[in-house]
Amino acid sequence: MVCQECSKPMKYPEAIQQLIDSFMRFPGVGRKTAERYAFYVVNHFDEADTVAFMESLHRVKQEIKPCETCGNLTDETTCNVCKDKTRDRRKILVVEESKDVMVIEKTNMYDGLYHVLNGAISPSDGIGPENLNIKELLERLKDETHQEVILAMNLSEEGETTAMYLHRVLEKTDLLVTRIAYGLPAGGNISYADEMTLFKALEGRKKY
Ligand SMILES: [Zn+2]
Repeated sequence: MVCQECSKPMKYPEAIQQLIDSFMRFPGVGRKTAERYAFYVVNHFDEADTVAFMESLHRVKQEIKPCETCGNLTDETTCNVCKDKTRDRRKILVVEESKDVMVIEKTNMYDGLYHVLNGAISPSDGIGPENLNIKELLERLKDETHQEVILAMNLSEEGETTAMYLHRVLEKTDLLVTRIAYGLPAGGNISYADEMTLFKALEGRKKY
C-alpha cells in the first residue's frame, strides 16, 4: 500500500506490526490472516480479554511440561495416562505429538500407554532421530512389561520415514511392532481423523 499524500509505502504503527509478526509465527498463518487477527485484537479485545490472553500464554509456558515417562504434555511430573494403573502396560502407542494422544483418548477405544516423539524425522528440515524422543522410547522398552509397539505416526512422508526407522531399530527385539493404517487416507493426519476412522485404524493395525 502507498500513501495517497506522500506516495511513500504505508506502514502500520509499530505495535500493530509487532502483533502481526507474532501471529505470523503460527503454522498456516500468512500475512493476511495475521493482519486480520491483529486488527481483531485492536478492535474487539477489551482490557480483560487482553489480560486473559497474555495470562494463558504465560501459564502454558510456566505450567505445561512433557511427562517424564512418555513425553505427553502435562501440568504434573507424570501424566494421567502413565499414572493410571488400570491401563494395559503391554502396549505402547507411538505418536508424533501430544495432541494426537488427546484425539485417540477421546475415542475411548485404546487402553494402553503412549509415547510422544515430539515430531517426525524430516531430513529436509534437519530433524533426525536424535532430535526426537526416540532414545527415551528405546530406554522405556527395555522394561519387559511392554510387548507391543503400535506405530501411529501420520501417514505423511515424515511419518512413514519415522515408522520405518523405528521398525528397523526394533526389528531385533522380541517386541511386536504394528502400524496403524486401515481407513486413514494417504497423507492422513491423525489429529484430523474422525473417531470411527481412528477406531478402524487401530483395530486393523498390522504387524510391520
Ligand atoms: Zn506419561
